[in-house]
Formats: sequence, C-alpha cells, structure tokens
Amino acid sequence: MKTISFNKVWLTGNEKNYITQALSEGKTCGNGNFTHKCQSFFEEKLGSCKCLLTTSCTDALEMCAMLAGIQPGDEVIVPSYTFVSTALAFVRQGARIVFADSRMDNPCIDEQKLEALVTPRTRAIVPVHYAGIACDMDVILAVAERHNLLVIEDAAQAIDSFYKGRPLGSIGHLAAFSFHETKNIQCGEGGLLAINDPRFVKRSEILWEKGTNRAEFFRGEINKYGWVDTGSSFLPPEYVAAFLWAQLEALDSIQQKRKEIWNMYYQNLQGISSLSLPVLPDYATNNAHAFYAVCATPEERTALIRYLKSHGVYSVFHYLSLHKSDFVKNQKWEVEELPQADKYTDCLVRFPLFYALEPDEVKYICEQIKSFYTSERDEASFGER
Ligand SMILES: *Cc1c(COP(=O)(O)O)cnc(C)c1O
Repeated sequence: MKTISFNKVWLTGNEKNYITQALSEGKTCGNGNFTHKCQSFFEEKLGSCKCLLTTSCTDALEMCAMLAGIQPGDEVIVPSYTFVSTALAFVRQGARIVFADSRMDNPCIDEQKLEALVTPRTRAIVPVHYAGIACDMDVILAVAERHNLLVIEDAAQAIDSFYKGRPLGSIGHLAAFSFHETKNIQCGEGGLLAINDPRFVKRSEILWEKGTNRAEFFRGEINKYGWVDTGSSFLPPEYVAAFLWAQLEALDSIQQKRKEIWNMYYQNLQGISSLSLPVLPDYATNNAHAFYAVCATPEERTALIRYLKSHGVYSVFHYLSLHKSDFVKNQKWEVEELPQADKYTDCLVRFPLFYALEPDEVKYICEQIKSFYTSERDEASFGER
C-alpha cells in the first residue's frame, strides 16, 4: 500500500548552490551577505523598521520578551491553544501567563474576551495567527492601546498572509516568524524577529549580538565594541541564511502550490455534516500553512486518524491546551476553563499538506475521509455520539 506522510521537506534545488557560494566567501558566522539579503526581503515585504534573522522563532520570541522588558510579576496574555514557545519565551523572563480562549469559529485568540483578562500587571498580548489565518488585529490593538500594552505577533505560521491588506508580522510592535522544516518556508531550524516600533531597533541588535554593540562597530559607527546590555547569541550562520534565501526566492511558487492543495481539500470535503472546515473571517487571507478540520467528538477524531492510517494516510492532531499542561499545573497559577481551546485540543485534525503532494493524492485522501464518514459511521466505530 502506498503511504502519504503528513509532511515532506521540499528543496528548490538552489540551496546547495547558495551554501557553496556562502562558503566560498570565506565567512561562515552570521550577519553576512545572505543574512542581509533575507532581512531586507522581510523589511521590504513587511515595511518593518528592522528584521533580524534568528536561529528559531522561539529565539525571536525570547528576544521579544527581553525587548518588552518583561520582569517577574508581569503578566502576558497568550492563547492556550498554541505551541509551547509562545508562552515559554515570556516565562523565562519571569512572567506569569494569563491564558486566553480561542474563537468559536477558528483557533485564533478570542479578541472579544481579551479585555476581561487585563490587570494592572499586564504588559503584553501575544496573538498567534493559527494556520496563517489572521487574528482580529484591530480589536486587539485597541485593547492594547487602552491599557498601554505591547502587541507581539506570533507569526510563526503566517508568512505571506494578510489582515485587511496588511502583512501579518507588520502589525504588532514586534513579531516572530519560524522557518522550521514544518513551515511554508524553511531552513531546518530558523526564525526572524520583525521590529515595527523604532524604539526597539537599537537594543534589538545588541541583544542579538551577545549584549555587545558589535553591529554598530561593523557599520563603522563606533571604533570599538564592548559589553553594553544583556543578550545572547541569536544569529544563525551564513550557510543557514544561504539555504533560507533559496527558499525565499521560491516563495511565490511555493505559496501557489500550497494554495492549490488547500483549495482541493476545501472543495472536496464540503458536505460532511460532522466535520467542520476552516473558517476564514473576511478580514483574513489564507497562506495555506495547514489544512485542518474539526471533528464532532474526540472519539470521532481518534477513529478518523486511525482509519486514514490504515489506508496509508498520516493525519495528525495538534496542540494540547497549555493551561492544562503539567508545567502550568506546577506553577499553581489560577486558570479558568477555556472550552474552545479544549475543543480544538480534542477535535482538531490536520491532513497532509506539502509542496510535492500530488493532486491525485489529495483526491485519494479526500475519498478516504468521505468513505470513513459514510461506511464507518453506521458501525459506531467511534463510540457514543
Ligand atoms: C512553529 C511554531 C513556533 C516555534 O517555531 P521554532 O522556529 O521551531 O522555534 C512557535 N509558535 C508557533 C505558533 C509555531 O507554529
């Protein structure tokens, strides 16, 4: 039987050429030509004051937490339905995380329930654009403005996606992207910090370069450099930037292919009454980062994943609500019930979506999903409903 994996890395073919070029320039550490090319690409796309390549989105989020000046006792509002790093980056600075629920119609943070979570200790809100679909940023920005909070976009999945025509990652004060191998554009492990508020530009370069003013030195703005602030080593080596550049050059063709696959799923899976398809609010575009659906019950999801696997198709669930994690239990933070986050934890399923996935394969997957719902349903193979 043919098997279809959930994800498969795709290479443009230019990665090796650019890596060879980077090596022949005799520079292997970071902040060289390819790093500058990648950063300029994003500065132009986003209109950010400054973009800095990092070794991961987690790193970029850690830089955000440092730039925001998060200290012990501060509170940061984060959706419960997200990857660990969204919260962890702020916990490392001593923050207490206040978890927010997701919307009813999609896993993004419920902007209507946000203001009730703000206290005098709140410093920042971290919206996550789940599956590259925008959160309602105008409402979030208005809450932030009323309470003098920073907005830090976790745009890990959100490359080339828009909110009311504005690129995601350009709207908050700060934003973080990921180039992990599972993302639309990837270099194995990699990330990017976008700075959209000029107040943070100077300090961001210092944190990035191990607490030194080395970046200014290399631009010839000062004649020696030294230790001036906190920081870490957040920059990737040039050959990683070279790899990433090959992928960024192919952004348009990658996006087109992914959107074709996404649309095939969306059209072919209409009309299954207990399977909810993604909802795109009219302010959001789709960058086809993921194709997910929400089953009616956890038992149905388990049975669907098992059924697909027995037919050679690897589908997967996603996050486990962070407010119910062992880590959060050990913190003894007060946590509220977040029923939507739990619903996505229990019922959301993602189907294969990668560049090399063939139209025939997408059709096959959709047929299997449909046959699960027509033939298996009556046999009560997924328990009480
Ligand atoms: C992938 C992802 C991250 C982490 O990205 P890394 O580059 O692996 O550190 C963070 N947040 C979200 C929402 C993600 O999808």
